[in-house]
Amino acid sequence: MIFLKTEDEIGLMRSANQLVSKTLTEVGKLIKPGVTTKHLDRLAEEFIRDHKAIPTFLGYPNPYGSDFPASLCTSVNDVVVHGIPNDIPLVDGDIVSVDCGVLLEGFNGDSCYTFRVGEVSDEVNELLRITKESLYKGIDASYAGKRIGDIGAAIQNHCEQHGFGVVREFVGHGIGKDMHEDPQVPNYGKLGSGKQIKNGLCIAIEPMIVQGSREIWMMPDKWTIKTRDGKCAAHYEHTIAIHHGKPEILSSFEEIEKIENQY
Ligand code: MG
Ligand code: MG
Repeated sequence: MIFLKTEDEIGLMRSANQLVSKTLTEVGKLIKPGVTTKHLDRLAEEFIRDHKAIPTFLGYPNPYGSDFPASLCTSVNDVVVHGIPNDIPLVDGDIVSVDCGVLLEGFNGDSCYTFRVGEVSDEVNELLRITKESLYKGIDASYAGKRIGDIGAAIQNHCEQHGFGVVREFVGHGIGKDMHEDPQVPNYGKLGSGKQIKNGLCIAIEPMIVQGSREIWMMPDKWTIKTRDGKCAAHYEHTIAIHHGKPEILSSFEEIEKIENQY
């Protein structure tokens, strides 16, 4: 069942997502060779709680194993999603996708950004650029009257045109009082297919794109998802609301990109 949001509810969604973006900005300021993802996670949890919100990933249930043990998902290089923060220092040339979710005043925020650690290869830069572009192409397809399949088609076309793989097993989602609501928002699809997009719809769009084959596997921790071929994966996510017929991006990369450009 899809819950369309009122004007007031979209306002609360905006606040929750702005806090996610601020958290990702704080995390981004610390990303450099030598830092551990566990350190980033500790900072993020403290920052979220200091802003009277709850880190929603912490304790998230897993049908296959134990609850998620951290406030961030930190997915390094060939990890596609759901990487668990650990004590391994990041090194020059790594990429790390930092996914963050918060619950603030009863509503959820959810956003992800793939950061570079130092200098990365041209091939990896291209993966990051195309994945981020595909997110905005998906957002641009999110107008009232269009369909969910239009979003996936826009993302898939852009990424596949550039020779990248689109992961099928994990998808975007409706978001609101729950972090994961209906409808599912795949990163692939056919134009004109799927549920109609309406005013008040809030969704997280989150392309998970790989350099090589789109085949993935789950690690024994039952969380970490890696590419089978060991090539890199990128993941960018915005939460948006359909407001006055068009997409409003509730999260933001603006501050993140400012610090990123200082490298
Ligand atoms: Mg997310
Ligand atoms: Mg999400």
